[in-house]
Parts: sequence; C-alpha cells; structure tokens
Amino acid sequence: MWNLEQFRKDLETVVNIDSGTADRDGVKAVGDFFEDKCKAMGFVTKRDPQTLTLEARSREDAPIDILMLGHMDTVFPRGTVAERPYREEGNLAFGPGVADMKSGLLVMTTLAERLTKEHPELNLCLAFNGEEETGSLTTRDWMIGLGKQSRYAFVFEPGRDGGAMVKKRKGNIDLILKFHGVSSHAGIAPEKGFSAVTEMAHWIIELNKLQDLTVGTSVNVGLVKGGIASNVVPDYAECMVDLRFERMEEMEKVQARVAELAKSSFVPNVTVDVEYQGIFGPMNPSEVTEALIEKTNAKAAELGQTIGWVATGGVSDANHIAALGVPTLCGCGPVGGNTHNQKEFLELDTIEQRLDLFYALMPELK
Ligand SMILES: [Zn+2]
Repeated sequence: MWNLEQFRKDLETVVNIDSGTADRDGVKAVGDFFEDKCKAMGFVTKRDPQTLTLEARSREDAPIDILMLGHMDTVFPRGTVAERPYREEGNLAFGPGVADMKSGLLVMTTLAERLTKEHPELNLCLAFNGEEETGSLTTRDWMIGLGKQSRYAFVFEPGRDGGAMVKKRKGNIDLILKFHGVSSHAGIAPEKGFSAVTEMAHWIIELNKLQDLTVGTSVNVGLVKGGIASNVVPDYAECMVDLRFERMEEMEKVQARVAELAKSSFVPNVTVDVEYQGIFGPMNPSEVTEALIEKTNAKAAELGQTIGWVATGGVSDANHIAALGVPTLCGCGPVGGNTHNQKEFLELDTIEQRLDLFYALMPELK
C-alpha cells in the first residue's frame, strides 16, 4: 500500500543534507528536494528566495481543506552529517533531524501524493518552513496567512512516546531588554551617572511579579549582563526573558505591562529598548479541535491504534495556526525522541501507522 522502501531511501537522502537554520544552502537543498517531489505529483509550488519557504498546493483556490505544516531546518550545524550520517538499527533510525522533522516532511508528501490521486476533491496545501528552530520570526506571517485560508491544520512534528500527539502548547514570548544609562566614575562623580543595571534590576522585580503559576504563567529572566567594572556607573545592561502562558488574556496582560514599564524609567535618564525575539500564542484545544481529536481517536481505534494526547510547555508552528481558531493537531509525524541532541532517533514502524491514520482521517474532513 505504501512504498516504505522508497520512503526510507528518501529519508536517508534528506537526513544526509545538513540543514541547520543558519545553513541557508542546506535548507535550500532540502527545499529543492521537496519541491521536485511536489511538482512530480502535480502540485503548484511557490518558493520565497528570502525566507526559503516552500508552499505546494493541489489547487490554487480557497479554502484549503487541509494544511500540512513542517520545517526543513534542524538545530545541527554543517558537518554533522559527515560525523553521523543516517543509519538504521533494528526498528530505529538515527541522524540529524531524522525525527525533528525530516520524516514528518516525508509523511506529508507521501500522504499528499496518494490523497490527491484518490481524493482529488480535497484541497491540500503543504507548507515547508525554513527557520522554525529559531522561532519563525520572518515566516510567521506567511504561515498565519495560510492558516487563515485553512479549515484544518496538521503539524508533523515528531509523535511522542507510544504514538501520542500534542493538543496543547503554552504560548511563549522571548524578549531582549536593552537598557541605556549614563556612565560616570563611581568614586569621583557618582551624581553624573545613571545606572542601566539598577534600571534593569527594577524591571526584573516587576517582571517576576507577573508570574502566576495558578493560571500557567511563568517568567524567567534567564540571562543578564551589564557594566564593565565596579567603579564605573554602568551605561549599558541587557537581559533575556522567557515568558510562558496558557491563556491569551495573560499574554496580552503581560505585553501591556511591558509597554507600560517602557514608558517611564525607575532611574532617571535611562532608556530601554524592548525587542521581541519570538511571539507564539498559546495553543489550547478549542471546541473544534476537541471534535477533531474525537474523530482522530475514532479512526485510530478502527485501525487498532491508540493515540495519547499530551500538553507541553514547548512551542511549535502549531501555536500560530491554533491561535487563529483553526482546529490544529501537532506531533502528527512518526514517533521519535531525544530531539535536538545527538541521540535523536525515529521509530521506523510508526511511519506506516501515521500514514494509515491520516490517510483514513483526512478525506472525512471534507
Ligand atoms: Zn521541530
């Protein structure tokens, strides 16, 4: 039914292309591979030369029935493939990005190829991101644009232990705060100095007040730097802050508080630049997602599979789509583990399970 031998051959090919996010040639090469594949099955493709995204559609009209989303980049730098290329051992496959998420990308194209032949009425869109691992800063709007045209979305990040998928993810804001004060000799002219470090200290206290674990909001000022010596009033300081949310209202509340803090300083003559490095809305299972989960469970049961559902504090591109109210599932790819480290593995027998499941489910969503 599925040509799994070809699947594994293709998997070896794409895993053996280094495609760390910063390795633009590598990401482009992965895009070339998938663009060829999509063209061969009659899909219309679009590339963005700047962001390297690839979009492949079975038809050009809207709405898109099914959006399948994945990323071509990995966290591994060039040279990783030379050190540890694709290899298989029993039911496991290893190699950089084998689970996160090159096997997921191949599930997308393999599914689409068959679905489009046997269910041409389905309007399918495959979206390949090139910079998910660094927060999708320049590709977020493109994904949101596709999400807005879509009825259902599936993100093929790796499946979890025992085949579980992800239905809930926290939202995340990544901030860099840069404080600019006025430097002076701390002994000779302390009155002329305005400390960026002191201003930052006030901010840290204020930001930490926003943590409320009872509603799932956490705040972590994870990195601070500033100053050059103990006898110099520091004119510069910066900190990196990670904020996580279960609720959109909390996320908005925190953003409003940050904007308010930035309006006036605690220490006179100190200014702050607020730089947002990443913004992911929380992914909470809405009623429509719950209904999709029910359908998925029923289909899985027919096939003799059981699907668990997990919640995680980690973010993925699914956050962007789910925040639009589109029923969205994540972790749809084959099962893997140890992602982002050199022991990353993929469970080969779950490739077919995922193909079977989504092949049975997706036509019923029309
Ligand atoms: Zn991933």
